[in-house]
Amino acid sequence: MKELVVISGKGGTGKTSIVAAFASLAENAVLADCDVDAADLHLILAPDIKQRNDFIGGKRASVITEKCIGCGKCAQVCNFDAAVFDGPVNDLVRKTYKIDPVACEGCGVCVHFCPADAIEFKDAVNGQWFISDTRFGPMVHAELGIAEENSGKLVSLIRKQAKQIAAQHNKDLIIVDGSPGIGCPVIASITAADLVLVVTEPTVSAQHDLERVIELAGHFKIPTLVCINKYDINRKMAAEIARKIDNRNIAVVGRIPYDTTVTKAQIAGQSIIEYSNNGLSEQIKSLWLAVSERLAGKEVG
Ligand code: SF4
Ligand code: SF4
Repeated sequence: MKELVVISGKGGTGKTSIVAAFASLAENAVLADCDVDAADLHLILAPDIKQRNDFIGGKRASVITEKCIGCGKCAQVCNFDAAVFDGPVNDLVRKTYKIDPVACEGCGVCVHFCPADAIEFKDAVNGQWFISDTRFGPMVHAELGIAEENSGKLVSLIRKQAKQIAAQHNKDLIIVDGSPGIGCPVIASITAADLVLVVTEPTVSAQHDLERVIELAGHFKIPTLVCINKYDINRKMAAEIARKIDNRNIAVVGRIPYDTTVTKAQIAGQSIIEYSNNGLSEQIKSLWLAVSERLAGKEVG
């Protein structure tokens, strides 16, 4: 079983449209949406949710008001300013402390130091993750709560579940829509993957992000390919990107032109391959071929 992760550094490069197109071209794949902070693969793949699970990202403290003696120890020891002297009255004091659930990082220090045993420390449900059916095969995806963190942990969970489903159903490929950026979620998206495809575009910010994600993939020794999307919006910069990539011995396996079909297909809730069989679809098919060949161990580019 192979695992392909499609990443982009920054958002808006067309990564998810390419993942959806790959999903419609792959014959025996499991899909995993690891772009958990801005998940949108479901808009194209319309998953039919079969299993819904809470995501426990960590723990969170909360004051048991009746027990609080208002000593303020929790505020003294909290490094995140999460304990505030703003809680309601109880039988013991006129004002108690309470904990701001958004600011609480779940470190547990206040629980340890509270002299009145007045702080609970419970699992925090940070979101939900799902196992679904789509018209292209099983899909694992998630929804992170507003302002919730721990998305790296959720990404790892999604990939693990996708692997289990692939093993159970004899699927030979997992296609992962990876997280953006270069932080914890993208590291969790790519570690130990078989191949990373970076989707970029010829803009200054995308070029900057491309270099950073390539370095990241190189650091983890993951074979990497690049696709330049909307290459014709700045051909000079696209050529410069290709030259720089070539210097790093990384193949540019796709140059996709700007095409309004991408947006039209998204609005129609279809992959580019389903929506049209124009030149764009042909270019994505040859990109898919190059990626498949590399996954099969052949040199491409
Ligand atoms: S340390 Fe415990 S008793 Fe003291 S203010 Fe905080 S919650 Fe209340
Ligand atoms: S668990 Fe940690 S972060 Fe949360 S209130 Fe207590 S000391 Fe602060």
